Amino acid sequence: MKRYRVDPDSKVDLDDWDAEETSAYDGDKDDGEDWLDELTDELEVLQELLYAEHKHKVLVVLQAMDTGGKDGVIRHVFEGVNPVGVRVASFKVPTPIELDHDYLWRVHQQTPGRGEIVIFNRSHYEDVLVVRVHELVSEEVWKKRYDQINEFERTLAEEGTLILKFFLHITKKEQKERLEARLEDPTKQWKFAVGDLDERKLWPQYQKAYEDVLSRTSTKWAPWYVVPSNRKWYRNLVIATIMVEALKKLKMEYPKPKDDLTGIVIE
Ligand code: AMP
Ligand code: MG
Repeated sequence: MKRYRVDPDSKVDLDDWDAEETSAYDGDKDDGEDWLDELTDELEVLQELLYAEHKHKVLVVLQAMDTGGKDGVIRHVFEGVNPVGVRVASFKVPTPIELDHDYLWRVHQQTPGRGEIVIFNRSHYEDVLVVRVHELVSEEVWKKRYDQINEFERTLAEEGTLILKFFLHITKKEQKERLEARLEDPTKQWKFAVGDLDERKLWPQYQKAYEDVLSRTSTKWAPWYVVPSNRKWYRNLVIATIMVEALKKLKMEYPKPKDDLTGIVIE
């Protein structure tokens, strides 16, 4: 999965990253779904262990253009996990109270505690994406945020948080097809916002803003992965694989029982 990790200090040009490819798995959609089942079973066990051990914290950041598949990842990759230890935090247009604070204020409150996995559905990165593209703050202000974000994430990591950041990379053409599907399907129309079409017009500006995010904020302690996401099954497989590999590396153990259990007989 290393091929999808952005090296710290590299310069990302998204044209060099193929959104369509499926090269890490030699199979088709059906095989992919079988493999995903196996991975989500593994993830279930690892999450149980994370919760039991109550030591590490796990933060998963999901960022994408509209229709990129954030909801799909949450549904399919995390389908088996125990809701008691997993939480989704969605970041919308900031409220007036949130706007009265610094941009990390609302984010820090949602970071995971020990034993917990928190999935950020959008994140503090909106503050250098939509905020930059729409000039909601001056360039002087947003330019400083890359370093601030790196330091914020470094603090979280040094305090015991495993951070994994996924950019779900789709092509503009794929977005067109997904928006059309939303328009046609009565069960998906609720997701369609006319405003998304204005955002689509800003595609190049967003791609540029994402390239800067990926180039400037992929760090050893909080790496970005560019996930080829035109194929949903492949996107899910890549994320599930990276999650399982990263959690295994934590070498977690079930806690020892509090009491000496030798010789106990239950009558
Ligand atoms: P959705 O994820 O479709 O529910 O939409 C949430 C909206 O909130 C998106 O259009 C985001 O761009 C927007 N949003 C999230 N964070 C911010 C932010 N910090 N400033 C401005 N808009 C934001
Ligand atoms: Mg939306």
